[in-house]
Amino acid sequence: MITTEGEQRIRLLPEHLINQIAAGEVILRPASVIKELGENAIDAEATQITFWTESGGKERIQVSDNGIGMSAIDAELCFERHATSKIHSLKDLYRLRTKGFRGEALASIAAVAEVELFTRRAQDALGTYVRLAFGKKERTEPVRCAPGTTLIVRKLFHRLPARRKSLRQEETEHRYNLQEFLRLAYPHPERHFQFYHNHTLVYDLPPASQIERILALHPRLTPETLIPISEETPFFHLKGYLLAPERTPPRNKENYLFLNSRYIRHVSLQQTIHHTYETLLPAETRPLYWLFLEVPPEKVDVNISPSKTEVRLLEEMEIRRALVSVLRRAVALGKVPITGSPTASPIPLATVAELSPLPSEPVSPSLSQPSLPLIETKTAPPAFLLLYERYLLLRRGENLWLIDLVRAYQRILYERYLRRASSSQGLLFPLHVPITPLQAAQLQAHLPILEEHGIRLEVRESREAVLHGMPSGFSPASASILMEEVLRLVEEEIPPALWRETLALHLAHHGTPHLPQTLTTEAVENLWEELHTTSQPFYSPSGHRILRPLRPQEIEQLFTE
Ligand code: ADP
Ligand code: MG
Repeated sequence: MITTEGEQRIRLLPEHLINQIAAGEVILRPASVIKELGENAIDAEATQITFWTESGGKERIQVSDNGIGMSAIDAELCFERHATSKIHSLKDLYRLRTKGFRGEALASIAAVAEVELFTRRAQDALGTYVRLAFGKKERTEPVRCAPGTTLIVRKLFHRLPARRKSLRQEETEHRYNLQEFLRLAYPHPERHFQFYHNHTLVYDLPPASQIERILALHPRLTPETLIPISEETPFFHLKGYLLAPERTPPRNKENYLFLNSRYIRHVSLQQTIHHTYETLLPAETRPLYWLFLEVPPEKVDVNISPSKTEVRLLEEMEIRRALVSVLRRAVALGKVPITGSPTASPIPLATVAELSPLPSEPVSPSLSQPSLPLIETKTAPPAFLLLYERYLLLRRGENLWLIDLVRAYQRILYERYLRRASSSQGLLFPLHVPITPLQAAQLQAHLPILEEHGIRLEVRESREAVLHGMPSGFSPASASILMEEVLRLVEEEIPPALWRETLALHLAHHGTPHLPQTLTTEAVENLWEELHTTSQPFYSPSGHRILRPLRPQEIEQLFTE
């Protein structure tokens, strides 16, 4: 583009355009308004915060608090870009205790909606009313109002058709709003939160303890199913709760990680948490937890994304490492007994017995009568049935059990590898893998730790890795799968504290377990016994079901027509 003056093509953008552009980063949808206004109320030390939304917040959002309020001067200033009372200098950025500090939320909201503010400090007789519409101040005047602050946001994105079109249906936006609301409510149980949608009270959360707040938001959970955590380490203070693994709903994706009371998304921390006990969970299920990490503010950089949901941790490695041991201990101590577990059955192992042929006489349909001649104890040849070369049908006490043999061995090998100092088995044919010089350097640095895990490696001329030995118990056929995982561990700098678990999981999941050649009664007994010394006999390490009881009632059910 050529200007009439010819020389000046660069222009400074007008203020309202700057604000609209900036709003694109901070205010994406009604939920962003919920988050920003809620955070301001918390920063203003409010003990009572109420949200009202209409049409999923697309028409109207109101947030009222009983916090410190603003003076008349501040009430006007707060809508300016980079106007904040929370930091004054660079130093303040490294000792942040507040949620906000960038001074752009109110400016951004006011740029893309109609906004009204009512605010009063307790020491002032009158409060201040300010009205703005799409970046323009329309009115300022004294007003009678309660101490604290109310912000009303109407017609979000009404003059920005493209933005407005990108919003979803009312119910979807409502869901996003509630999600943000909960992320504020969990870490501040001592404050009273309320949420209304279309004039209906959706959540009323009076001041409570942390566990009461969690239970109030999950009415189906009971206190015994929550494993409490409270630990001081050199790198962080951690408090919170884990839902006992065996009570975690299948395919759960929900989890709450807070850093200095701020909800955060931190992929590697969340993965670390997941990895520490994913083996206790069904497949595709993430642990459900509410973890509140406290880290000195100077060791956190919150200023890497406009929403401040992403953070950078200066001591991430150390934090991940310490987190693993804290969580492992908590899960181990906090085991909740599984009701109906086969281990609870007092029937001794020696009763493995033959499944005799079906009785020829018609029998009473009530299998609860224990006298059925289904099983002959003393004269027992092998007392199990192998189905399709993979499943075992077995009687234990009252119940019949179906066992997936492959998965059972996966669980057993996995736990053997976890528990013992792993011995190494030599490979008859060492595995040669081409590698890059960078991988060579990474491997070289970790050879001794790998050896501790039963992995004997040699790095040749920065071009090739040779695997001479792998953990015993796993099939040599899994050697290349093992190498892939080893390279991933060193490349992604997974902390060595997690290696054993990760390797065991990977081998058990992708490797071929050694199945016994012949299944004798003794082998079956040993299998059953060893399976029940594992931490989770019901699920394979990758979370697939190993055992299925067939209870008498269930069999009976099959014939009720
Ligand atoms: P930030 O929170 O990053 O400082 P905002 O644009 O969200 O920026 O708010 C600007 C300023 O307005 C805040 O620093 C604070 O001084 C004041 N403010 C905003 N909301 C409230 C409130 N609910 N109560 C009291 N003061 C508020
Ligand atoms: Mg703010």
